[in-house]
Amino acid sequence: MWRGLLPGVAAAVVAVAPEAGLAGAGTAALHVLPREVVQGQACEVQVRVVDPAQVWATAGGRAVLLYRTREGYRGFVGTSPHTPPGALLVRVVVATRGHQVELVGQVRVRAGRFGERHLRVAPELLDPRLAAYERRRVEAATARPLPDPRWAGPFRLPVRGPVVSPYGVRNVYNGRPYGHHLGVDVRAKPGTPVRAAQHGQVVLAERLPLGGNTVILDHGAGVFSSYLHLSALAVRVGQQVRAGQVIGYVGSTGRSTAPHLHWGLRVNGIPVDPLPWTARGRRTPP
Ligand SMILES: [Zn+2]
Repeated sequence: MWRGLLPGVAAAVVAVAPEAGLAGAGTAALHVLPREVVQGQACEVQVRVVDPAQVWATAGGRAVLLYRTREGYRGFVGTSPHTPPGALLVRVVVATRGHQVELVGQVRVRAGRFGERHLRVAPELLDPRLAAYERRRVEAATARPLPDPRWAGPFRLPVRGPVVSPYGVRNVYNGRPYGHHLGVDVRAKPGTPVRAAQHGQVVLAERLPLGGNTVILDHGAGVFSSYLHLSALAVRVGQQVRAGQVIGYVGSTGRSTAPHLHWGLRVNGIPVDPLPWTARGRRTPP
């Protein structure tokens, strides 16, 4: 991937920091925070550079979008129940004046303890073609993220209400295992306004077979939030929204058994637990 983007550059100097934290090679330094996460949590990658440089990053082999900061670059790495427990390697290539440095850091991923939930749904909603279609729509909508973060401070819960299904639980539909629940379900009355968790741009606002009426917002820096099963949409693709702006209304469309909001957050393509990004959560991003 990024190797291909750096043709003709001298062999890389590799600096490995076995205990995560800081990896440095003179003109550049890599910091991964925190050092340890539970599956579903995200961490932050900071790259300090002395000279102007081009920087590329991957985590677990996946590209990590970096944006410019005063000290260098910053980006976010997501984990999920599909991220193997153990060391997740973060690799950063810094290219400056024909000189290339590779920095390697790591974050320790601990296995989450996820429960199980049993649901009965119409059998036709378990057709894998529906999930594949939906995945393609989401991938197309999130393929060109806004580079810079549109937000500052914690994300807000899009609706008030009890979390009736947390992130990560194993879905068992009609008696068969069907993967993890990769968002949180918040119970609320049908028609309750659903508010944007942060500033962003609408990249998807349409009816999907499983998500039902769905909105996806691009918050920049590879971070997207999604709002599923809405009774109605209040925004259209391309629209800029402010944190707290009404984007739709609670419903039970798509593969849903009762009125609720499914709220999801993706970080560079990895669906993470959104609650740690809120003030109520365990950790808030900058
Ligand atoms: Zn859900």
